[in-house]
Amino acid sequence: MKIVALAGGVGGAKLADGFYRARPNADLTVIVNTGDDFTHLGLRICPDLDTVCYTLAGLANPLTGWGRLDESYSALDAIEILGGPTWFRLGDRDLGTHLVRSDLLRAGNSLSEITQKFCQRWGIQARILPMSDEPVATIVHTKADGDLAFQYYFVRLQCQPEVTGFTFQGIEDARPVPGILEAIQSADLVVVCPSNPWVSISPILGIQGIRDALVAKKNVVAVSPLIGGQALKGPAAKMYKELGWEPAALSVADQYKDFITMFLLDSADVADCEEIRQWGIIPYVSDIIMKDIPGRIRLAELILNLASQQQGGTQPS
Ligand code: GDP
Ligand code: CA
Repeated sequence: MKIVALAGGVGGAKLADGFYRARPNADLTVIVNTGDDFTHLGLRICPDLDTVCYTLAGLANPLTGWGRLDESYSALDAIEILGGPTWFRLGDRDLGTHLVRSDLLRAGNSLSEITQKFCQRWGIQARILPMSDEPVATIVHTKADGDLAFQYYFVRLQCQPEVTGFTFQGIEDARPVPGILEAIQSADLVVVCPSNPWVSISPILGIQGIRDALVAKKNVVAVSPLIGGQALKGPAAKMYKELGWEPAALSVADQYKDFITMFLLDSADVADCEEIRQWGIIPYVSDIIMKDIPGRIRLAELILNLASQQQGGTQPS
């Protein structure tokens, strides 16, 4: 069984972890957004990649969903005393990741090679691939504060500025990491995880060849990150409103409608099903909130069952 998942950070990592635990022997490839990556204190930091890796390795902080378990902040305290920047929370263990990654990048290794090496060290059996080895930087255009680097908007300004759009700097020249297009082409199932469509999934879709590879597939399932018009966490719903879209599962399905074959949405959004069906997409209503690890596995199992029914030609009602 070959499964490909497209993921941002927290929402993506949870469902990817569900597949990893539900089918430990499956061939799982997780393609991860790198638009959030930035250089801070001279270190290359890849928030979504690290969230996915820490989650699958069982090293993630279960309370935040990002950062590491049993984390301490001695280095950050020392940085503060010296007047250095502390707005981006860097734990001591997490810093170890950024130090080694930055050193390996300077020595000429690619981000995908480094990620593969880290995954081996952390005992992760799945293939976790950054969307590209070439840097892509999400720029947030805002109404009152100009153009902002993504982490500055997201962490420092806590997503408060009103957004007017996004640019993914470097995306025209960014090639997919070797193996991504082949993984999509040969997958039995491709899943667009419930990640932020604007800033987590859209950059992945913008990498040369990825969207076309998805359009060519017959088994692409997406899970709504919006439930009853709200995000469980983060600025997704706020972004829809500010960009003039209805914050609704229907809007998410609309953004993906040229390549998805099935869309999972919450019972709160059952009214969206009819229109989704008219687009030729199978809507499926379920509990799509992953409260805990069994919840991740349950959602992954549901998707696997639905996908096998779809392949077998039966339409789930
Ligand atoms: P980030 O990169 O850490 O901001 O995370 P993602 O982009 O991967 O995910 C953010 C989105 O995940 C938000 O829009 C949330 O609503 C959504 N999300 C988080 N947990 C869940 C969940 O359990 N179920 C669903 N359906 N969506 C979730
Ligand atoms: Ca992110």
